[in-house]
Amino acid sequence: MSKILGKYSMGIGDRFGCQGVAQLRACFQALEHGVEVIPVWNKSNREHNTIGSEPASTRAAADTAVRAAGWSLPYFLDADHIQLANVERFIAPCDFFTLDVADAIGKPASTEDIRAFVARHPELEGDVAQIAGKYLLAIQRAGEIYHRVAQVKGEGTFITEVSMDETDAPQTPPELLIILAAIADEGIPAQTIAPKFTGRFNKGVDYVGDVEQFAREFNADLDVIAQAVARYDLPANLKLSVHSGSDKFSIYPAIREALQRTGAGLHLKTAGTTWLEEVIGLAEADGDGLALAKKIYAQALAHREELSAPYATVIDIDAAQLPSAETVNRWSATQFVEALRHDPANPAFNPSLRQLLHVGYKIAAGMGAYYLEVLAACEPFVSKNVTENLYTRHLQSIFIVA
Ligand SMILES: [Zn+2]
Repeated sequence: MSKILGKYSMGIGDRFGCQGVAQLRACFQALEHGVEVIPVWNKSNREHNTIGSEPASTRAAADTAVRAAGWSLPYFLDADHIQLANVERFIAPCDFFTLDVADAIGKPASTEDIRAFVARHPELEGDVAQIAGKYLLAIQRAGEIYHRVAQVKGEGTFITEVSMDETDAPQTPPELLIILAAIADEGIPAQTIAPKFTGRFNKGVDYVGDVEQFAREFNADLDVIAQAVARYDLPANLKLSVHSGSDKFSIYPAIREALQRTGAGLHLKTAGTTWLEEVIGLAEADGDGLALAKKIYAQALAHREELSAPYATVIDIDAAQLPSAETVNRWSATQFVEALRHDPANPAFNPSLRQLLHVGYKIAAGMGAYYLEVLAACEPFVSKNVTENLYTRHLQSIFIVA
């Protein structure tokens, strides 16, 4: 039996591997409302390198959380944004692989391969040779990673996602169809595909862009996926994956409407939103927790440029909006929480501070055991915020029919 990803699934990355049970509680709440959302713990090579963790530790944390919570539906561990050069340590512990080929987009495949692709696909419309020229090499690279993992683990033993989101130019729906034809040609059984959508998907904050244009594009992409599944040798459950998918409140109604109308599935990938709830929980706990949250902010502020650099395409911090460490040190628990919690209606909410703390997990990682000790001491505050954020702001708004 091949592994199948359920219709609705959510990437619930957990930087420090401490929130699994609180995250599963959100999935249980969805179940109570009649909706199955399959949890997928995603952690990229970049996150592992920043924290100094290993994919095997993510596996241990996920298995422990699943046992403790009594979760009996499937769950997966996503080797997120991996490439051929760094896939090896993920192969044993992971059963979901997000093949990141964004780097190869725009680099031309061989003329011969492009010609063969065009000849094989008379059904495709538009400037097929030009579009294939832009994406074919990237898909070939994805094929290399897929076949490497399949060679070690065996076909059908893992879920495959192809991601192209970390690039500057969005892919149009006609481009997506050509990409999917190429994915089928490479023999990649992709169950999810993460295109770059129009607009900015900054980490941990709302969508920036034309919501109506996004809605048109999202619906057209759903249509393209249905066509591709009918035409090509691709899994019947192939669905869209929305990366940096947390906190995009302004596009959730359009996504929800499209899913309800078409019956399509969705993978919503999140990670940093849970880390930010850890910081909110620390602050809310007051005392040592608040002091630690302030310390993380002060150090993140001092290392802003270095922390931001790896995330340049997915954050927009307005330095002028960042309060000084002295100011934040005078804040009450409520002031800190209100500045950080993603409540767009609250005038105290500060998206720049939130994005800085989003990339600031490296500071907490550097504190080692001390961070984890205080986190454990503040657990009731932290886990409540983690669950509530995933369920109320995410699962409920996207998947649960009112
Ligand atoms: Zn991504």
